[in-house]
Amino acid sequence: MSTPQLDKIYEPKAVEARWSQVWNQQGYFHAAPTHPGQPYCIVIPPPNVTGSLHVGHALNHSIQDILIRWRRMQGRNVLWLPGTDHAGIATQNVVEKQLMAEGASRESLGRERFIERVWQWKTTFGNTIVSQQKQLGESCDWDRLRFTMDEGLSQAVLEVFVRLYEDGLIYRGERLINWCPRCLTALSDIEVEHEDVKGKLYHIRYPLVDDPHTALIVATTRPETMLGDTAVAVHPNDPRYRHLIGRKVCLPLTAREIPIVGDSILVDLEFGTGAVKITPAHDFNDFEAGERHKLPRISIFTARAEMDGIGLHEAQVDPSLNLALKPVPKARSIVVDALTERGSLEKVEDHKMALGKCYRCKTVVEPYLSPQWFVKIKPLATPAIEAVETGKIRIIPEGWTNNYLGWMREIKDWCISRQIWWGHQIPAWYCTKCNHDHILKTEHSVGAAAEGGILPEVTKWNYTFTQEAQPIVSRSAPTRCPNCGGQDFLRDPDVLDTWFSSALWPFSTLGWPEHTPELKTYYPTSTLVTGLDILFFWVARMIMMGLKFMGDVPFRDVYIHALVRDAEGQKMSKSKGNVIDPLHAMEQFGTDAFRFTLASMASPGRDIKLAEERIEGYRNFANKIWNAARFAHIHLAGIKESQPPTDRSFPGLWIRSRLNDTIQIVTKELAAYRFDRATHALYQFFWHEYCDWYLELIKPVLQDPVHPQGSTTRRTLQDTLEVFLRLLHPFMPFISEEIWQTLPHEGETIATQPYPVPQTHWHEPSAEETFRLFEQSISLIRTARVLLNYPPGQEVRVFVTHEEPAASAALVTLEQDLAHLGRGRISPAPISQWPTSNVLRLVTGGVTVGVSVEGGVDLQKALDRLVKQIAETDKESQRLDGKLKNVDFVSKAPPEVITDHQDRLRALSRDRTMLTSSEQQLRAMLGA
Ligand SMILES: [Zn+2]
Ligand SMILES: [Zn+2]
Repeated sequence: MSTPQLDKIYEPKAVEARWSQVWNQQGYFHAAPTHPGQPYCIVIPPPNVTGSLHVGHALNHSIQDILIRWRRMQGRNVLWLPGTDHAGIATQNVVEKQLMAEGASRESLGRERFIERVWQWKTTFGNTIVSQQKQLGESCDWDRLRFTMDEGLSQAVLEVFVRLYEDGLIYRGERLINWCPRCLTALSDIEVEHEDVKGKLYHIRYPLVDDPHTALIVATTRPETMLGDTAVAVHPNDPRYRHLIGRKVCLPLTAREIPIVGDSILVDLEFGTGAVKITPAHDFNDFEAGERHKLPRISIFTARAEMDGIGLHEAQVDPSLNLALKPVPKARSIVVDALTERGSLEKVEDHKMALGKCYRCKTVVEPYLSPQWFVKIKPLATPAIEAVETGKIRIIPEGWTNNYLGWMREIKDWCISRQIWWGHQIPAWYCTKCNHDHILKTEHSVGAAAEGGILPEVTKWNYTFTQEAQPIVSRSAPTRCPNCGGQDFLRDPDVLDTWFSSALWPFSTLGWPEHTPELKTYYPTSTLVTGLDILFFWVARMIMMGLKFMGDVPFRDVYIHALVRDAEGQKMSKSKGNVIDPLHAMEQFGTDAFRFTLASMASPGRDIKLAEERIEGYRNFANKIWNAARFAHIHLAGIKESQPPTDRSFPGLWIRSRLNDTIQIVTKELAAYRFDRATHALYQFFWHEYCDWYLELIKPVLQDPVHPQGSTTRRTLQDTLEVFLRLLHPFMPFISEEIWQTLPHEGETIATQPYPVPQTHWHEPSAEETFRLFEQSISLIRTARVLLNYPPGQEVRVFVTHEEPAASAALVTLEQDLAHLGRGRISPAPISQWPTSNVLRLVTGGVTVGVSVEGGVDLQKALDRLVKQIAETDKESQRLDGKLKNVDFVSKAPPEVITDHQDRLRALSRDRTMLTSSEQQLRAMLGA
């Protein structure tokens, strides 16, 4: 065997950089529809092009890479398709900040030059995350890297938009939408974060027009919006007020009279004052009430959340209040003061409320009336609900299924237009002649480059269209107006919500709308790996779009992983300073250790509390593997190429049986997405069976150059290590490759070797039974040696027996092994043949071990140690027992932890019995 040497210390950095490069250069991860094997495909949730790898990506991507490497080794035709998302608002914000630092703005550049600038930024910085993904060892097909704004994907977006429009599933209308007054764009419901705050509830008197001494009292948390009220609602069954329906109230601070309407939806009989103000332009529920009662909408805010001069005029607000262009908080205090002064404020109470904030910039979101584009969602949602109900798509862990279904059943039309520049511009045009009266110059320079520049007051990008404008939706710019024959058009300035293009990701990346071989082979994809936070933003929409345009689900399994938090369970954030940077963690502990840590913590549905100590622990595991491989190398140097007879020794039979079991567990747990259990099995096997016992057991054979079992033992050592490395590879790709290359092998890389499958002929229950006997005996011998304070090198006389004759017979065959690990002269013999004095007996689980008490032993000190050990055992038992009796702990801990605690408690109780018996013996020997 040619043996490339392994360095004394494992240096992950150099090894990782080398393999990362080789893997990608050699094209091992390149997929092709013509490759053999059943297809297995994952499309990566495209990270934002502005992003750099954070710990959430690292978890998400590690899990995908584990699945992908596993399936590739299983011989499947694997495609892992990478890409990035253009991330509309986020990217626009980054470039705008850059411009601001240069003293420029996107307005000063104009739309076209601004977009050029964003592309430049993308070219320079957009691949940061891709190179970091490679560093993490991700085995994507990098030749197929896609971007949501590349040509093919933009074509898919265009096609989907036009088809949905033609099917009547996209419409334009004036609706109340969530508006960010800083980003100056619409946001969808799920782009608004809700935060509980302490607010106030203002009770305001609205006097009746025909009876000014009587007033309706309305309560509001936003008194400034009262200026835009267009009615007051009471419940039609409320005996206090129903006779007032149809009459009018004077709206304070304005010259307007507004009607009292009856509305059983808006007004809750059980709650509040019984009267509710209706402000259709500034509240979602009021908007709908306004529709029901055909009320006018008076918008009193500008896009920047200031009081709007035109709106105030329309609302006939008292001009002496001087409200025009006052920001909302200022306007509120002016309105409250004026109401107080004029005796219209009944009372003010403290009130808890939820405040909506922009998910990008945390500015308070305003409901804002504007013409927007919407997807009519119900017809798309129905089949998407059915796909999950019928099990065509499986959500894992299953518990999230109800979240999905509940949300989908309540889903509202999706506002898809955004008033920003970076993104897919909406393919709608307006004939300037037909829409002459519907073109508006906007205050805030939102718009698109006018293709004609027809109207003198319309500059290149500060226009928009009223609700009445008639769009022409088309795959390309129209040349002639079908209505008037005009040839001048303006394009709709809005771009699409970023999630519109990502909703198409599973098929747009495979070449749709073309009928490509990739689409035929890899769609539907196999598994989607995602965090819960984008289940609705993204996953639900991919399901809807996939069903609509491909006629089939986009993926079979949706695996939802937990969110990574800090060691205390707090959200990681820069301001808290508790962020674990994946790049730093990889640098410090090695990428394999970091990946293994993340996988080991991926329990279903829980927050992952990540502490650096955990990563350090798995760094030690990587080192353990390295050192074991080095040990193997030293002893494999003399291995003969010829195949020796099968190793029938106890250690050989046992370790193969354990390895077989480990293969079974890892494979089963991978199929069940239990990465935590799979890593646990790998760790336990290698550290606590392979290294702690197996390598120790075979040392005497390896160290004896003429041992009759030398060559079979070496062969087992080599084979089991090689199989373990393949089993480990998806989790720790780098170290497994590096070591595997130094063992005899066929093929260029471990990454394309077959994944180990269980070998039934390796299964040896009797060897496992013998091992338990052996382990118990060694454990007792070691306990006795510690109690009696024998130095490690001192050989002592040891007797051993078992209450069952068959087990006693097995102990006879273990004499050599017991002698080696127990450092004693072993006499397997029935107790009747043991010396009657000066032997300390220890019993557990049927095994009895007797260790001779030599002349120099200080019995009193041994007794002291024993008493101390009993006390420690009791203390630990109490601690575990206390935890198990703590209702809070039991309800929160994973079932594995509970089982583990119960097992340890039982073991401690067995130890206690054993130690107490020894205590009695020692006291007897002392004559006490
Ligand atoms: Zn914002
Ligand atoms: Zn026209």
